[in-house]
Parts: sequence; C-alpha cells; structure tokens
Amino acid sequence: MIYRINNFNPGPAALPLEVLQEAQKEFVEYGGRGMSVMEMSHRSKDVERLNEETQQLLLEILGLPPGYRILFMGGGASTQFALVPLNFLKSGTVGRYIVSGSFSEKAYMEAITVGKAEIIASSKAHNWRRLPDLNDVQLGADTAYVHMTTNNTIEGSQFRALPATGQVPLIGDMTSDILSRRFDYTKFSMFYASAQKNLGCAGVTVAVIREEMLKECPERIPAIFRYSTFVQHNSLYNTPPVHSVYMMKLVLEWVKRQGGVAELEKRNIEKANLLYDVIDVSGGFYRGFIEKPYRSLMNITWRMSDVELEKRFVQESERNGFDGLAGHRSVGGLRASAYNAVSVESCRALADFMIDFQKRNG
Ligand SMILES: *Cc1c(COP(=O)(O)O)cnc(C)c1O
Repeated sequence: MIYRINNFNPGPAALPLEVLQEAQKEFVEYGGRGMSVMEMSHRSKDVERLNEETQQLLLEILGLPPGYRILFMGGGASTQFALVPLNFLKSGTVGRYIVSGSFSEKAYMEAITVGKAEIIASSKAHNWRRLPDLNDVQLGADTAYVHMTTNNTIEGSQFRALPATGQVPLIGDMTSDILSRRFDYTKFSMFYASAQKNLGCAGVTVAVIREEMLKECPERIPAIFRYSTFVQHNSLYNTPPVHSVYMMKLVLEWVKRQGGVAELEKRNIEKANLLYDVIDVSGGFYRGFIEKPYRSLMNITWRMSDVELEKRFVQESERNGFDGLAGHRSVGGLRASAYNAVSVESCRALADFMIDFQKRNG
C-alpha cells in the first residue's frame, strides 16, 4: 500500500492516485518514443496530438456546443485577471465586476490598471460571508463584459445561479469549481481556470472562449497577450507547458472513467455535507464562515472560538494524517478544500476527526 495523506490542500491540491501512477509509468518514456513528454518538441506529432485530444476531451466533458475554442496558456488564473481587460476593454466601454471574494477583487484591481472598470455588486461589506444579490444588477449600454468568480476559494462560497446579462458577455473565473458540478457553461462567453485545483498540476491555464469574442482582441496589445494569437496557433504559438497539459489529459480521462461531471457532483455534495453536518451539529464549537445558502461544495470554511484552539486543531490534524486544513493566511480559521480528487473516504475521515476533536476539547 502506498501511503496517501488525506490531502485538503487548497491548490496545488490532491490528484487522483491513478493519474499519478499512470504518469509515473510514462515518466521516462512516452508513447514508445525513447524519451519523456517533457523532452519532446512541442512541434512534434505526439505533442500536437496531445494538445488536440486534450482540447476535445475537455469540450466533451464540459458538454459545450460548437463555437467555443479552448486555449492552453501559462501564467495562472492571475494572468487572466489582466488579459481579460487587455483583450476586451475597449476605450469608451466599462468592465463590470461582481466582487464576491478576494480573487474577484484582485481581478477587478487588475482591470482598473488597464481601463475603466466598475464594481456592480459586492459582498465585501458582509466580510464575504454571503454572495451579492445578482437579481437587480443594472448594466449600462457601455458594458464591455461582466466578470465574476463562480467559487470563492479563500472564503468558501459558491454561486448556484448566474446573472442574466442579456447580450453582454459574461466572463467567469472557474478555477476552483470547474468540472465539480453540472453547469450551464454556455451562459459564459468566456471562462478560465488554472489547473492546480480541479484540472491537474500548476503550469497550464485553460481559457474557453466563444469564437465571436475573438474579433474583439485588439492588435495594439502584444501578440503574446492576445487570445486570438492562441486561437490562430492552436495554443502552440510559443512553447506551451506540455507536461501540465499531459497531466490534465490524464485527469480528464479519469473524470470520464468516474462517470463524468454528474457523478463527481454527486460525490462532491456528499463530501461537503459530511463536513457541514459536523459543523452544524457542533453547537457552535465549529462555526461555518459562510451563510448557509452560499456555501461552497469545494472549499468548506469554519472558525473556532479562539485562535489557539484553531492552531491545535491544525497541529493535531497533521499528526492524524491530514494536510492543508489551515485557512488562507488572509482570513485565518480552517478550510477543507475537497476538490474532485479528494475522496468521500477522506472527507468521512475528517468528519470523524472533527467529532473526536470536539469530544476532547469541547
Ligand atoms: C487559485 C485561484 C486563483 C489564482 O490562480 P493562480 O493560478 O495561482 O494565478 C484565481 N482565482 C481563483 C478562483 C482561484 O481559486
């Protein structure tokens, strides 16, 4: 038996053991070519095929109709914060931002360095404990796009529904919940996700863009920052993070073998409920950070009565085979990130540990 810790890291995060073992088998030699995938030219037939097949697999799993293009880019989701306004924020238009946590705020802060951006809905005044109401969001005719973050990784909240933006393109940062639940991705004109939460390992960021958006990409920005450049060159304009794309392909094949997004969603609901149930019956020993209707299936966050107790919780969890449970340094508290690759068993083990910890410290 290989020792595997119960890995609740927020990202980089757990990968399925099967995927790691497949990658291990092919680490030194890929496809009978006498070299590893990391040593191959990105212009080789093998890498071209890997690039093409990974795109097709992702389109299929996402259930997207024709008309969307998949790009593999570097720089992480944080680079998309800047690329979105660089590509889509023309002078005289406004990028409108839904701000529901620190990553969406960061996206907004990047946009205002590029052009005119505005916050149209925010839950900052509620200390991010809830999500902003999107029902009466007003969009001026000068709106270039609306940007939102579907799952707030640090705070632990998640949108169930998307705003109706009419003809205005909706752009989503889905880094921490892509492929975690059934979802109408077609509401987005563009969405993006860096790989190290639900798609694989760090290094590659997926951008999915509706073709008509590409007409907007201006010639005045450097070619390397233009989405249209990546489309024209099928993500092979310069050297892509080939190994990260390869890892993503293995993860996507794993997703398919599990029964696709529908099956993962079922497990994710079960996993999150195991932990929220413990929180909710603890009589205030564990206090969920996010108001109930807005809770995330991916990042379960809670507080305890004092920082010392939280510290002890983390230390004891680490001695008991868990990792990654300390909350983000900006918010403190505790956080269990239960992405697709985290098993129901790991969540059950954590729920048991939480119950036991309360018995000993409550
Ligand atoms: C992790 C995360 C990011 C930051 O991603 P990087 O790849 O580190 O730039 C941005 N947005 C969300 C929602 C995230 O979860």
